[in-house]
Amino acid sequence: MQKDKYILITGGAGFIGSHTYVELLNSGYTPVIADDLRNSNRLVLKNLEKITGKTILIAEIDVTDFDKLEKVFEKYNFHGIIHFAAYKAVGESVKEPLKYYENNIGSLVQTLKLAIKFEVESFVFSSSCTVYGAPDDKNEVTEEEVQLLANSPYGQTKIIGELILRDFQKANPNFKMVALRYFNPIGAHPSGLIGEFPIGTPNNLLPYITQTAIGKLNELTVFGDDYNTEDGTCIRDYIHVCDLAKAHVKALEFGEKCENGCLEFINVGTGKGNSVLEIIKQFELLTKLKLNYKIGPRREGDVPAIYANTDKVSGLLNWRTEYTLSDAIEHAWNWEKNLQHEN
Ligand code: UDP
Repeated sequence: MQKDKYILITGGAGFIGSHTYVELLNSGYTPVIADDLRNSNRLVLKNLEKITGKTILIAEIDVTDFDKLEKVFEKYNFHGIIHFAAYKAVGESVKEPLKYYENNIGSLVQTLKLAIKFEVESFVFSSSCTVYGAPDDKNEVTEEEVQLLANSPYGQTKIIGELILRDFQKANPNFKMVALRYFNPIGAHPSGLIGEFPIGTPNNLLPYITQTAIGKLNELTVFGDDYNTEDGTCIRDYIHVCDLAKAHVKALEFGEKCENGCLEFINVGTGKGNSVLEIIKQFELLTKLKLNYKIGPRREGDVPAIYANTDKVSGLLNWRTEYTLSDAIEHAWNWEKNLQHEN
């Protein structure tokens, strides 16, 4: 019998983590989640079992707790690690920067310390396109264009996280490390069983749209229509969360091939930008609903337009998107409707 290829996924009960859990199982790995569910919900765990037909392996621990995380490393002979565990609300990070530095940097450092101790050399880090700050005129960003300062403490934790990987990999050259720079993940699993679980009022556009459409929220505010873009609203690169999840499997597979160690920073986006108004119109078209929205002032810290250059992710990881923007919006809407029956 083949030996289990255990993969630790810290923060595996979260939005991207839970979808990655499914893709790992589909690709023959055995994922083990470390997550204290502070930003998730037990429904995700129950539904992961429904989707996969397998009992979930989870350690309900705070990933910054070295001793507890060490017990998880002792229990499983990990083949690789995907490190998601982090806070991600930009606005909150401005108000409570230390909470972000403590958790996001702390969890990375503890996980890396254990990766050395247990010689788990394959490591995927969830980074973000926030490391690019605000691009100048050209809105398509390549991997070289990282800024020294991000627009928020959240973004800083991703820049610092990448710097930690650089120093760490220099000192431990056998490690095979990939930092994936996510653009804007949206959508949900096509089964409608897992998706994004915003705690409190959502910050992100898609959950805000679906919650407004279903009546949980009154009205969506479009943050500014006076940007220098075609319709005046901001442009982002929206990527289906299942496509993003698959990029993690590809990143692990890539790492396995670089025998002498490696460190790569890779954009994961569609390569195409859409404006806020385009997303709203597409949502209305697909659902045949009229969304209650108004134009409001700009949101502080918003970058006018950004989308990924995808040469590296397609060349190095042999990864391509499989879902369209419409698929992502439809899946997000299905998930919202299914959630209604859960409450
Ligand atoms: N946005 C908006 N209204 C909202 C939430 C977001 O107009 O209630 C806009 C936001 O200004 C940005 C885009 O939607 O242009 C995507 O924002 P989100 O917070 O989802 O992701 P970000 O790119 O900021 O990480």
